This record gives sequence, structure tokens and C-alpha cells, in this order.
Amino acid sequence: MKVDRRAFVKLIAGGIGGTLLSPLPWKLADDSAIWSQNWSWRPSPERGEATMVNTVCQLCPGGCGIRVRLINGKRAVRLDGNPNNPLNQGGICPLGATGLQYHYGISRIESPLKQKGTRGEVKTLEPITWDEAVALLAAKLKSLRAQPQGLVCLSGKQNGTVSEFFSRFLEAYGSPNYLTMPAAAQAESLGVFLSQGVRTPLSYDFENARMILSFGADLIEGWGAPCRMMSAFRLWRSKSGSQKTRLVQIETRGSLTASQADEWLAVAPGTEAALALGLAHVIVREKIYDRAFVDNYTHGFDDWTDSQGRRHQGFKSMLLEEYTPARVAEITGVQQEKIVELARNFALTKPALAVSGRGQGKMDGSLYEFLAVLSLNALVGSVHRPGGVSWAVTPPLAPWPKVVQDSTSRNGLRSERLDGSGGPDLPLGGHLLYNFLENVPKGKPYPTKMLWVYEANPAHDLADVNLFVKALEKIDTVVSFSSFMDETTVMADLILPAPTFLERFEDVSGDRGLQYAYFGLSRPVLQPRFECRHPGDVLIKLAKMLGGSVAASFPWDNYEEALQARIQGLAAAPSGRVADEPGLQPWSHLGERLAPNYGSADELWEMLQEHGCWYDTSQSMPSLSSAFKTPSGKFEFYCQALKEAGVTGSDSTYLPHYQPADLPGGKEEYPYLLMPYEVMIIENGPLANQPFMTKMLFDFELKGRDSFVEINPKTAKEVGLREGDRVELTTAIGSVKVRLHLTESARPGVIFIPLGLGHSAFDRYIRGKGANANEVLAVLQEPLTGLASWWGTPVKISRA
Ligand code: SF4
Repeated sequence: MKVDRRAFVKLIAGGIGGTLLSPLPWKLADDSAIWSQNWSWRPSPERGEATMVNTVCQLCPGGCGIRVRLINGKRAVRLDGNPNNPLNQGGICPLGATGLQYHYGISRIESPLKQKGTRGEVKTLEPITWDEAVALLAAKLKSLRAQPQGLVCLSGKQNGTVSEFFSRFLEAYGSPNYLTMPAAAQAESLGVFLSQGVRTPLSYDFENARMILSFGADLIEGWGAPCRMMSAFRLWRSKSGSQKTRLVQIETRGSLTASQADEWLAVAPGTEAALALGLAHVIVREKIYDRAFVDNYTHGFDDWTDSQGRRHQGFKSMLLEEYTPARVAEITGVQQEKIVELARNFALTKPALAVSGRGQGKMDGSLYEFLAVLSLNALVGSVHRPGGVSWAVTPPLAPWPKVVQDSTSRNGLRSERLDGSGGPDLPLGGHLLYNFLENVPKGKPYPTKMLWVYEANPAHDLADVNLFVKALEKIDTVVSFSSFMDETTVMADLILPAPTFLERFEDVSGDRGLQYAYFGLSRPVLQPRFECRHPGDVLIKLAKMLGGSVAASFPWDNYEEALQARIQGLAAAPSGRVADEPGLQPWSHLGERLAPNYGSADELWEMLQEHGCWYDTSQSMPSLSSAFKTPSGKFEFYCQALKEAGVTGSDSTYLPHYQPADLPGGKEEYPYLLMPYEVMIIENGPLANQPFMTKMLFDFELKGRDSFVEINPKTAKEVGLREGDRVELTTAIGSVKVRLHLTESARPGVIFIPLGLGHSAFDRYIRGKGANANEVLAVLQEPLTGLASWWGTPVKISRA
């Protein structure tokens, strides 16, 4: 069966009304019923009383409010969007709508497992009891305590209290080595710190903007909080006349966002920063920038003299000298006239915002590209203003008590980080996973003794995936906290099964681009199916077994109690409400105080469980006069914080600029470029597609066991290949076999490969389907930041 993805997006963007009115879900359900009739684990609706309960989806960091339809209070038969939730407005994405297949699916881990044979061998994973598992882990931790820095934790979540629990445990134990998986938010936070003095991701006021310039961010294909973005898209399309919101997509590939945009500019791969600076050139040259903002609130626009009397180049003269439309047209392939027209439109449409972060934002990204796009926002005065960008607004959770440290933890925390972050070569900090993976085999600066992996699947999801596999060979003990038998979990020595999102308490702070404070609460609406335990409870138990300062740092009886302690902060805040009515539009009330609809922390906790989320609009944007914490107290085009961090170089080092990527492999041997892309119906994160999602893929995306890459017909003709041909793609790091899909939306010379397929683990419904792009994608690290800013790998193609 073919499902038109655009129709599907319209369906889900339409929220609950769309879900009920469209025939599509019923057709899908029908097909699925026929296809799945022989599954032993097929969800079969029971007879009985139906009730709806609210919770928050945790299948991606979007944090949507969902409604679970329960039969007899114990069997979930359906998930829908919660119309009272301001973030998703009743909408639900394909992943969320089919999320019950994760809960009832067959790749769940049923009990703790210990590897009794060779690592990676599923047959020798032996069930053990929780008491045995925790005792084993506690004994290992005790034996390593003298050198606590050898413990590393890799989290798939960028934030949230469970991630904080893991980093807290490491701090109490004495290890500085808490790492997260790559994410665009890293470059974004660093860019905000360098230009504004505060280390935080941005919020984007998409709902109030009248023009949006997206530099590769797939806004309606899973970027940010996906259902929020689909609601925003629906809002843009509902406006008309002078209120209409115009979306311009700047992206090499003809993505779903590109196809739905008002205009799509197919830039040459990796040249987004050059285009942003070319637009800035025109805006400055034509003097159509926001003079009041630039004159009063920015530093380094004009050439300037420092306190030692040294003259420095400013942003303006650099733009005028180096980023003329003629040069930028040559770099990007976008016509000069188009650059001029777009720059004028962007500067003169108020409010307008620019956003960067390729695909769904699951790659680190380039600092300078981010700074270039952020500078565009500053030029048009769209920083900390309605319809522009501001800082992520975090809900005012109460802090936990300070971590207790003993002499062992203090010594351990003084160690250099295993990823080199914050050290002399990489002073800007951050989570530099690839550096860590390169250092592990060398045992530098010291051996990694134990790795914990929480809700992440690096053995499948990292570019140049063998780096991770090789690193594991040098790590004595690998522990996986996961609900599913993913590729990383298979390679663990100890597996500690976690409850699914329908079986556990957890929070979502909703800072993925939201312009108001949001706190979502997942709660256990179903009994755990198996012998799984909340990772937070496991950490508390471990801490108590270790005793001393580690135990003192975890004074709670269970994770729920620790989470409730944080809620006190929301209850004490003067503004904020539990979302308990439909049609809430927080973006229409930015800066307004909300009268709380609860009287105490206990009442708030009860209401959160009943309704799912809390939100506040009062803290949305700081005042321009006091916002910037930079050396100049202003928004810095010329980032003096880089100098303060010890980074040396010419003036251009401190200014946003375009750096061509230094791609691995010679052009002669690898004449084409392989670029990864993400789509919403191929899960590319710690989960793999469940059967229903895979069923939605087109025949030209996955057919049988073969996945497809997109290629322009001209490129295919050059190498004598046709639609559907089976080919081998070879890069400097490996090869994969795929089939070709010819499409005019692929740029000539570039081959586009989807991320998220080619699993060797999970269940039989997804295992072995398609190729894992990460087996052939190389990692490109930005020298200044160490962040993985990969976006393409030179490749050759031959008939398989
Ligand atoms: S966008 Fe994310 S949080 Fe929302 S329903 Fe989909 S998977 Fe769940």
C-alpha cells in the first residue's frame, strides 16, 4: 500500500479533527489488520469499558500531550493527540500514533541480562534477577572507585531529570565523563554563548513570524518538537493577505519541507553559511538592516579598536569585501538576482526569522554556520523580539540538593575529560563524542573502564559507526539501560531493561525551540509488562549500595519522589498553569503572566498527572538592555568570548564566516557526494521502526530488504544506471548495497541516502531491512569546536 506522505502530514497537522475525518488511518488500520493477523503479539482490542487517560509521549523529545484509550483500565488500544496540550494541539505524528507497537512489540527486553559468553552474542545473554544485576554493578563500581574517572555515561537525551540523574551520579562518583549523543543544539548553544554570553539553545517564535528562512532545517519532517512544527505549519497556511507567513527552504535536497515551502533554493552542499552571509551583505549594502538594534545592542558591526589600541575588522566590512552576491552565487549555485531579492524580502518583512540545523537537528552542526544564520537574525532585529529568536525558556524547577563530593570524587572530577572537551585544544567545551571514541582505543588520557549507555543506540546511529564498535573492544564493561534489544544493547555485558513511556514517570522540558516554558509529565498508565525498572530507581539503589557521598547525593526513596521535589519550583512560581482546556495558544500571550490554576505543589502534581503538562508565557523574552552577558554587554558579531577562551587567529576567526568542508577521499576516486537525510516515517534515534511505520514506506524507499538512494536521472545516466538498479556505494570508510530511485529533486552529482534503516538488531520485522547509511558516512569534525559537522561524504557508485 502506498501512503502519500504529504497527505499524512496534512492529516496529522489537522490534529484530532483530521484524524477522525480522514479515511487514511482506517485504510492503514485495515491493511495492518490483514498484514498482522498472524502475529502472536498482535494488539487485539478487548471488550470492556473504554476510558481515556492523558500522558506525554516520550518517543521523541517533542513532548506531545497524548491520550491513551484503555479498555478495562489495563489494555491500551489507541493513542491520540491531546487537544488541551498547547504544544501539539491535538496532533500526533506517525511515530506517536503507532507507539503502542513499541509497548506491545517483541523487541522488548523481559528481564536483566548478563553476557556469559562473547560480547555481541545474543544466545549467551542470560537472564538474571534484579538483585543479582544491581549487586553485580555495585561490586564493579566499588572496585573501580579508586579511579572513578574511568566510568563514562552516554545519554541519548539532551536534557530531562533522568539525564540529570545520570550526570549527578557521575559527579558524586567522581567522573567528569558524562556525554550526550550529537545534536544541533550543541553548536546552537555554543553560538548563543559566544554571541550573547548565555549557554542555551534558542527558542523560535515561528507562530508569530511572517517570514521564515530555513537553512536546511526540515521543519515539518521531524525538526524540533515535530507536532508543534506541524501545528505551526497549519497556522502559517491558514493566514492570508498581509498576515500570511512565507517559508523559504534553503536545502540541497528536495525534502518534504522544501516541497511544501513557498520557495525552495537548492544550494550547493554545505554552503548554507555562505548564502546567509551573502544575504547579510545585501542587507548591509542596501542599508535595510535594523539600525536601532545594530547601533544600540551589538558589538563588532563596524571596524573597532580594542583597549590596547589594536584595530579590528568588523562584520560589516568583512561582508562587503568577501560576500558579494557574485562570489556567493559562485559558491552556492544560487543566482545573484535571487540572493538580492531574498535578502530584501527577509529584511523588509517584519517579523522574520532565520533558522539553521540540518534535517531533524540530530547532527552537531557547524558553529560558524550557526553564527552566520544567527547574525542574519541580529541584522534584521529579530533577536529577543516577537516573531524572532530568543533563548530557550526553561521551566523553573526547584533544584535538587547539591551533589555531595568526597576526596575520591573531587580527585576524579579534576581529571581531564576523555573527549578532550574544555582542555587546551578544545577550550569551548561541549560533548565531543567522536573525540571520546578516537581516544578510547589509545587509552588516552586514561583507560575507559565502564560505559553506561542510556536511551541511545550509537552502534547504529553514529556516522562511521565502526568507530564505536572498535572503541567497545577497549572498554571492560558495557552496561545498557534500554527497553529494547537494539544494536548497542546487544553488545552490552549487562542489560538493565527500562519501562516504556507508558509505564514510567518522566518529564519533558520542551526546550526544543519553544518560545514559552513547558513542562510535560509522562506517567505510568499501564503496568510494566516485564521485569523492567526505572533507570532513576536503579541509580538510587546503586547509590545506596555504594554508600558514603554517593548515597548522600541521592537522598530519595525512588525517582518519583525526586521528580516531585522538582515540581515544587513550578508550584512556587508566580505564573504558570496546567493546560486543562482546548485551543490554548501561548504564543499569542508572550510576556503575559498566567494565574496558576492549582493551590499547592500536591495539587499541581495531581493535576499534572490528570492533564499532562504545565506552561508559562511570562518569561518568554529578556529585555534587550540587560539580555547580553558578553564582554561588551551586547550581541557580539565579533565574538570576544572566543579570544577569552584562548582561541587565536585573524579577525575572521572571531566573526561568522564560511569555511569549505575538508572532505575525506579524492575527487578522482570518489566523484560523487553522498548526503544523509531523515524522514519522519523512518525512525532515526534510539528506536527502530515498528511494523506499522515500515508499512508506510513507499516502494521506492524500501522494497523487500533493499533500501533506495535518491539520484538525479542525469547522474544515473552518466554511470549507465536506471531506476531500481542495485548498486554498491563505496566511500573511504566502507560500502553498502542499495537500489536507485531516480528523481529530479536530487541535485546532480549528489546521492541522498536515508538514515535509520539497516538494523541488525531489534526484531525480525525491521532487522536486515535496508542499508545503514552510517556504515559509509565519514565524520567531519570542526577543528575549532571538535563538533561533528558532517554533511556529506565523497562516494563512488558501481553496479552491484
Ligand atoms: S512528535 Fe514526538 S512526542 Fe510528539 S507524538 Fe510524535 S513521537 Fe511523540
